[in-house]
Amino acid sequence: MATVPTMTKVIVVVGAGIVGVASAIWLRRAGHDVTLIDKGAPGMGASYGNAGLLAQWAVVPVTTPKLWRDAPRYLMDPNSPLFVKWGHVPRMLPWLAQYMRNATDKRTRQIVSSLSPLLLDAVDQHRSLIQGTSVENWVRDSKMTFVYRNRAGFDADAYGWRMKAIVGMTPTVITGDVVQEIEPILSADHRCIAVLEGQGHVTDPGKYVASLAQYFETLGGRVVCAEVRDLQKGPDGQIICVQTDQDHFDCDAAVITAGIWSKELTRKLGLRIPLEAERGYHVIFENPTETPYNPMMMVDGKFGVNAMDMGLRCAGTVELGDHHTGPSTAPIALLKKHAAAAFPRMSFSGTQEWMGFRPSTPDSMPLIGELGSSGIFVGFGHQHIGLTAGPKTGRILAQMISGQHPNIDLSTFDPARFSR
Ligand SMILES: Cc1cc2nc3c(=O)[nH]c(=O)nc-3n(C[C@H](O)[C@H](O)[C@H](O)COP(=O)(O)OP(=O)(O)OC[C@H]3O[C@@H](n4cnc5c(N)ncnc54)[C@H](O)[C@@H]3O)c2cc1C
Repeated sequence: MATVPTMTKVIVVVGAGIVGVASAIWLRRAGHDVTLIDKGAPGMGASYGNAGLLAQWAVVPVTTPKLWRDAPRYLMDPNSPLFVKWGHVPRMLPWLAQYMRNATDKRTRQIVSSLSPLLLDAVDQHRSLIQGTSVENWVRDSKMTFVYRNRAGFDADAYGWRMKAIVGMTPTVITGDVVQEIEPILSADHRCIAVLEGQGHVTDPGKYVASLAQYFETLGGRVVCAEVRDLQKGPDGQIICVQTDQDHFDCDAAVITAGIWSKELTRKLGLRIPLEAERGYHVIFENPTETPYNPMMMVDGKFGVNAMDMGLRCAGTVELGDHHTGPSTAPIALLKKHAAAAFPRMSFSGTQEWMGFRPSTPDSMPLIGELGSSGIFVGFGHQHIGLTAGPKTGRILAQMISGQHPNIDLSTFDPARFSR
């Protein structure tokens, strides 16, 4: 067992996705007595099936001013990456209204400036989390390739690139036949790529998180499989215990890192946080005959492409809907169709398909911090960037709970911002 400082507080972390596992590790490293509770196995929520991109570049929210023009077009086009579970729309309307209100130039710039400190050092944050563990070789340095049909497609994306340039990210743009020399997997229809240096990716996100949970146990942390039903406060409003379907766990502090399911848990605490599921899908092409040299983002189809241990994973699309119903067939069919067109020479032995829930707030920013002075901390709402930002979020939460002051402006992640 590795040596850690003397324990100080008894802490329960609810939810063992990337955010919860990272929080638990940093809390344990700070010397606390930490129990990590998940209703299933660690790493089986959204953290399981994402594209595995350490997306330091993903500082620009989906809600740019362009969304006002793109959204109606997406809704009309059966080949667009946006799907809607229409039956859920009436319940989602307040969230959608707030979401669209953020699609202005002013708000986009504010969100870019808020998300940047959470994302820009993500690869280093993952390395700090895994240093000296057996999962070290699952985090890889890489470039990131954004794939367009032609230069005009890249130019049409100028707003997003201008926003990225504000935080120092300017790509190398390559056009013409040389595109296929750099990434031979791509069809000849793709004549333009924009390449960012200094990025990273994970080769099996689900196993990565599960292995981090095992590492947490080697530090003396406990992992418990139980469903958390409630968080109980004492007469002074301070957390006293976490109740599960099996047992209750007395604690000095609790951390809610339950992804989309944080919505129900915080509702039990009397909060109505606007959190909705952006349902996303992946297809894994097993034993592919070709893979890209670097992870890619297919900009038209809005999906990431990442060569992983289990095959070539294509992950993306957004389906607005709830987190209580099962997968739809159309997003999977579309991913397969786009992949067949983009990688026409690739053959494979079979496919695996998956759907998961991005936990999304209308302002595209997670909630990180304490609920009042209750000793209940939250770290959820990481939408498209949870794998990337999970380790830093966990580190920030551990610092806050340990009475330190994280070196980052947390005001825009304030969990109380939706109650004002
Ligand atoms: C298709 C797709 C592609 C994506 N690609 C990327 C990418 O390339 N890069 C990136 O950074 N992000 C990506 N994301 C987003 C990322 O996956 C999520 O933001 C991130 O995984 C959220 O992590 P989390 O720890 O908050 O939640 P989760 O991973 O969902 O974990 C929550 C955990 O809480 C547990 N839980 C819930 N309720 C309870 C309860 N009552 N009691 C006990 N346990 C409970 C669940 O079982 C689960 O294990 C993608 C998402 C999707 C869907």
